[in-house]
Amino acid sequence: MMAGTLYLVPTPIGNLGDISPRIRQTLEAADFIAAEDTRVTRKLLNHMELHKPLVSYYEHNKRESGEKIAARLAAGETCALVTDAGTPAISDPGEELVRLCAEREIPVCAICGPCAAITALAASGLPTGRFTFEGFLSTCKKSRREHLASLTAETRTMIFDEAPHKLTATLDDLCKTFGGERRIALCRELTKLHEEIVRTTIAQAQALYAETPPRGEYVLIVAGAEAAKKETLTLEDALALVKQRTADGLSKKDAVREVAAETGFPKNDLYAAAMKA
Ligand code: SAM
Repeated sequence: MMAGTLYLVPTPIGNLGDISPRIRQTLEAADFIAAEDTRVTRKLLNHMELHKPLVSYYEHNKRESGEKIAARLAAGETCALVTDAGTPAISDPGEELVRLCAEREIPVCAICGPCAAITALAASGLPTGRFTFEGFLSTCKKSRREHLASLTAETRTMIFDEAPHKLTATLDDLCKTFGGERRIALCRELTKLHEEIVRTTIAQAQALYAETPPRGEYVLIVAGAEAAKKETLTLEDALALVKQRTADGLSKKDAVREVAAETGFPKNDLYAAAMKA
């Protein structure tokens, strides 16, 4: 029996005009749709005049539901996975279903379409050549602190998702981590009627939102540590960069070579320190 395909189908992040012909065709052709919130997806399907069987697949049922979906795929059915908005598997449980399918050699096909993080990065005005997607900062203080600490020496542009009620606290934490002068683009309500992109510094953003309470959904784009700062980087900062790159999959040797080139620390000193760390 030939396995069916899992299609990752992006849905609008605020503008129904972003439903492409291919998105529509894939939803139409699927045997069933797996949705993060079936009520949200039902509304979208009604708007598209599509009537399809829906199953729920979300954070708290992803294990059992994932197994059932994988079994149906293995038996030859086709599934379209959708999230509440944007690209499935980016900052949502879809990631686990894709892993399960990959492990079982079930074909996975990602359809192109809306993604809040990439839309925000593209419009941010900050460097886009190298970037890291950080998702949401944890609400647990310890993990939040550890997450931010791991980014102190980050030179790539950073992307964070944020909810309006947590934005001011997050700006305070970003200020402590990166300093008030660091550039930030606050991208709000992207693709919607009240879309707004504020390109400013972290300190100015704090002042702005102290006066006007934040509303709507945000993606924050934060500039990386400037190359000019490399003279002020300590060996510890450089080691943190090495650690991060090895966690990202580079060998220690390659990570040391890259970081030495970027920071000016002698490769041998950095390698010796990294071996001891
Ligand atoms: N998978 C989704 C994607 O590809 O865009 C992201 C899912 S993530 C759980 C949801 C977060 O994306 C929101 O909390 C917000 O930070 C961001 N987001 C979604 N829609 C947005 C919009 N229209 N404008 C700004 N940010 C948005």
